[in-house]
Amino acid sequence: MRKPQKAAVSRVGSTSENLVIGGGLAGGVAAIRLAGAGRDVVLLEKEARPHHKVCGEFLSPEAVEYLRQAGVDPLSLGAARIRLLRLSVKNSLLETELPFTALSLSRCVLDEALLVRAEEMGCRVRRGASAEQLVQSDDTWHVELGGGETERAHTVFLATGKHDLRGWNRSPGRHNDLVGFKLHWQLAPKQTEALRDFMELFLFRAGYGGLALVEGDMANLCLVVRRSELRRLGTWNELLTAVLDENRQMRLRLGGAKALWERPLAISSIPYGYLSSKREGVWCVGDQAAVIPSFTGDGMSIALHSGALAAEMYMAGASAAQYHRALESQLKRGMSLATSLSRFMVTRVGRELAPLGLSVAPNAMGWIARATRIPEGALLSAPRQMRVDASALS
Ligand SMILES: Cc1cc2nc3c(=O)[nH]c(=O)nc-3n(C[C@H](O)[C@H](O)[C@H](O)COP(=O)(O)OP(=O)(O)OC[C@H]3O[C@@H](n4cnc5c(N)ncnc54)[C@H](O)[C@@H]3O)c2cc1C
Repeated sequence: MRKPQKAAVSRVGSTSENLVIGGGLAGGVAAIRLAGAGRDVVLLEKEARPHHKVCGEFLSPEAVEYLRQAGVDPLSLGAARIRLLRLSVKNSLLETELPFTALSLSRCVLDEALLVRAEEMGCRVRRGASAEQLVQSDDTWHVELGGGETERAHTVFLATGKHDLRGWNRSPGRHNDLVGFKLHWQLAPKQTEALRDFMELFLFRAGYGGLALVEGDMANLCLVVRRSELRRLGTWNELLTAVLDENRQMRLRLGGAKALWERPLAISSIPYGYLSSKREGVWCVGDQAAVIPSFTGDGMSIALHSGALAAEMYMAGASAAQYHRALESQLKRGMSLATSLSRFMVTRVGRELAPLGLSVAPNAMGWIARATRIPEGALLSAPRQMRVDASALS
């Protein structure tokens, strides 16, 4: 690991040069790149301790590469490898190889590693610091924190992910009637082995979901369900019972499994398809800039890419508006395809046609995976001052 750096830019009174609001992947990587270049940067994270997040925890190769560039190696944190995909609908099953090797690591471990890294690079990380309000006066941004304190900065990177800051609401996206759930399980030993190397995707009447191992052989179950179906079913227990009744594969996997938390985490009104280009002078990164449907497994790579791109464009002298336009043009095509597919997948016709389509054209999964990813030419390499670190990781 690199030695801590001293922030090179002095503060104007207590006004910092850069303020990152939100310590998830997007905020973490933006802070690491800025601090790595010797910039003055403060990061606010509302949670005081490492915490779980609603996420399928599937790390695409692009996400893994951005993490390594930032000095975080998921494999050394215990990530599981994923090489194969198994799709199940009712009683039918289909297996295919992924066109790449992916990894899977809990967000609780991953996001914490990025925050520790940001601190090592010289960023001042404030935990348990929740931004309540963001306003600009003259050339300075004022951020009110819960507790009455104020942080001031010349530039703000908005990285609050799934949570909108008051007055900074995102538009609802093109597919916004889904609710997300996540729960870690300890599967029966035989089922753990059967799941190894796989991402299992399930389509069911209420929506779709994924199951994969993370570090320590725990299994992460993540579901997205239509709100109307959830209302019809009532509670999480009833939803799970309905899905298990309908999907033989999930029933098999969870047979004899122990839920590791009392209740699942949940997130409602996910604005799938949201892609911002206008947010008045603030650099929006991660889910604050773009929300791609979860089945693509690409949200984290977009979060990391946008955080890195914003930091690099800012340091190269670009404006926030130029950054948003660049990001939008890079993501527009994949986002549009993924959102249309997501809407189709949760219909009865989509559910019934998916296995048929994949058995007729087994390469379709690979094609969809490629078509919805960040275009290769848009991906950034490690900044010069961080290259030695990244190559030391293997
Ligand atoms: C159901 C579901 C499944 C998914 N599965 C996958 C998957 O398998 N693979 C994949 O690549 N992507 C997946 N995603 C997408 C992925 O989770 C997100 O794209 C990613 O987490 C975005 O990162 P972020 O840094 O923008 O936000 P977040 O990870 O949400 O981080 C935001 C951070 O900001 C903090 N914060 C919020 N408000 C404030 C505030 N006011 N002040 C200070 N701090 C604040 C939060 O505590 C949090 O730590 C999934 C998403 C969902 C909903």
